[in-house]
Amino acid sequence: HEFSQLGLAECLLQTCKQLGINKPTPIQQNCIPEILAGKDVLGLAQTGSGKTAAFALPILHKLAENPYGVFTLLITPTTELAFQLAEQFRALGSCLNLRCAVIVGGMDFLNQAQTLMQRPHLVIATPGRINKLIQQNPEIQAVFKKTKFLVLDEADRVMDVNFEEELKVIFDCLPKNRQTLLFSATMTSDLQTLLEVSANKAYFYQA
Ligand code: AMP
Repeated sequence: HEFSQLGLAECLLQTCKQLGINKPTPIQQNCIPEILAGKDVLGLAQTGSGKTAAFALPILHKLAENPYGVFTLLITPTTELAFQLAEQFRALGSCLNLRCAVIVGGMDFLNQAQTLMQRPHLVIATPGRINKLIQQNPEIQAVFKKTKFLVLDEADRVMDVNFEEELKVIFDCLPKNRQTLLFSATMTSDLQTLLEVSANKAYFYQA
């Protein structure tokens, strides 16, 4: 199996090659076509499986097709993971004019609000900080009205009870017809529930 058979844009294939990403891993081979087809996805897989590229590449493909229409909110449990994800997205999306914002605690609120108002293509956030910004500012709620992709990375950790209230506020800002992509090391009842209410038919991948 080759990357060129998965339906990805040529510039992304070139970038993968340059990064030494030559053959799709099983999660990439299975999930990329489903995400491109518009399905919600629940992927159960560990770090090291290539899960980041499994969602980053199809999202970047959609961005390449329509640089104005795509907006992704990617939620991850920790600041460190948020920066790592941004790095991977920037590397994989280097052929695109990707505008990416990392919204995590410990940074200036006003700056973050201004960044969000510029409507970056991709917002990578921890639940606590993005929730605070949304609650403080109705204009920021509106920024997320046309979100195309909601991604929960390490979804089992993101959906930890401590984040329950935050997530509700965040999800309420997103349109119902968004595509939801959940990647998790383990299956939980919260994940099950989230998938059941999703508008699209979900594709389930287990490593
Ligand atoms: P992840 O599972 O997303 O944490 O990715 C683990 C590492 O594997 C990252 O450093 C990726 O750059 C790398 N990687 C992802 N997909 C591939 C692939 N198809 N071939 C080789 N390396 C890959």
